[in-house]
Amino acid sequence: MSLCEGCTAPCCRHVIVNIGNLTADQRRWAEMHGEVDRAGNWRLEARCQHLRVDNKCGIYKARPQVCRDYEAGGAMCLAARAKEKGSSDVL
Ligand code: SF4
Ligand code: SF4
Repeated sequence: MSLCEGCTAPCCRHVIVNIGNLTADQRRWAEMHGEVDRAGNWRLEARCQHLRVDNKCGIYKARPQVCRDYEAGGAMCLAARAKEKGSSDVL
């Protein structure tokens, strides 16, 4: 069974954008909308419109390359899963 089986797919319900080049005021504004880590990665809740209610991809065969490159079991995946587990938020 793959790691993705039964997962709630937090990877498909947020985006991460590096904003390390923003001014302090712009960064402050960004922090009002989402989390910014020390490396300047801005994490925003944003459910993909193609994520089905069963947490599977609705366009799997035509999904973007960025989705194909996301490594199940990789550092970002494990961090997303851990964060999800520790949160009671319904995303
Ligand atoms: S890549 Fe990781 S976070 Fe995404 S569905 Fe698979 S196991 Fe879950
Ligand atoms: S296209 Fe599919 S794999 Fe990519 S974020 Fe959307 S639901 Fe997830």
